[in-house]
Amino acid sequence: MTGALTIVGVGPGRPDLMTPAASAAIAGATDLVGYGPYLDRLGALRPQQRRHASDNRVELDRARHALALASEGKQVAVVSGGDPGVFAMAAAVFEAVETGPTKWRDLDIRVEPGVTAMLAAAAEIGAPLGGDFCAISLSDNLKSWTTIRRRLEAAARADFVIALYNPLSKARPHQLGEAFALLREIKPSATIVAMVRAAGSGEVRRITTTLGEVDAEKADMRTLVLVGSSATRLIAREGKPPFVYTLRREVEEGA
Ligand code: SAH
Repeated sequence: MTGALTIVGVGPGRPDLMTPAASAAIAGATDLVGYGPYLDRLGALRPQQRRHASDNRVELDRARHALALASEGKQVAVVSGGDPGVFAMAAAVFEAVETGPTKWRDLDIRVEPGVTAMLAAAAEIGAPLGGDFCAISLSDNLKSWTTIRRRLEAAARADFVIALYNPLSKARPHQLGEAFALLREIKPSATIVAMVRAAGSGEVRRITTTLGEVDAEKADMRTLVLVGSSATRLIAREGKPPFVYTLRREVEEGA
């Protein structure tokens, strides 16, 4: 049998937010590769399916391992949370292909998309991505904090809605607070900020506040932070979480 490798996005958590195509890729795999907790989400495997769980940090090694299995003829599924192309495994697989043995280029390699955290989080609160937006990972494992600061500043000056992935971790507890401090120098303190934890998982927690009042300590590694643009609005509701949305049309200065 010719080997194949599919990099699969399993979505934000709830099984019904995984696409049927992603489920089919997982069901058809002989070998499942991924970070343990993502593999756990898939439930029981068939007896013929092998599980290769690994740490979340060694992505390139995991990608090479998956490619080696596929070149032995296995049907491999590399599993990622959310979408596999967003701050996740798909880019690591292609980096391994580019730098690896030429024969890896002949493998049948596909990407199955998934609902990324930014979209799941947006849907939990309304329509904050209605206007132009960007996504920035605050993790400095693979890039410098100087680069992250430069991108945050550019995004703030361009008045994008900003989705922040990897807001902080135990190893780097201060980054989200520093990011908010930098954004406060450029954006009005009334700018709407939402922190959505475990979006699309059935255990969601939402905090809707402003840039002036937001507390970075309330976020963790399962939180997606959305910082509004000048066109982001909040609709308060009695006894219910507010809606947050961004106007699609341009808002005039001072309007
Ligand atoms: N490939 C993933 C993102 C990996 S980066 C995706 O497309 O969603 C990991 C970061 O994603 C986390 O630190 C967090 O900021 C965000 N994240 C992942 N799942 C989330 C969820 N269910 N709710 C909120 N944020 C989430």
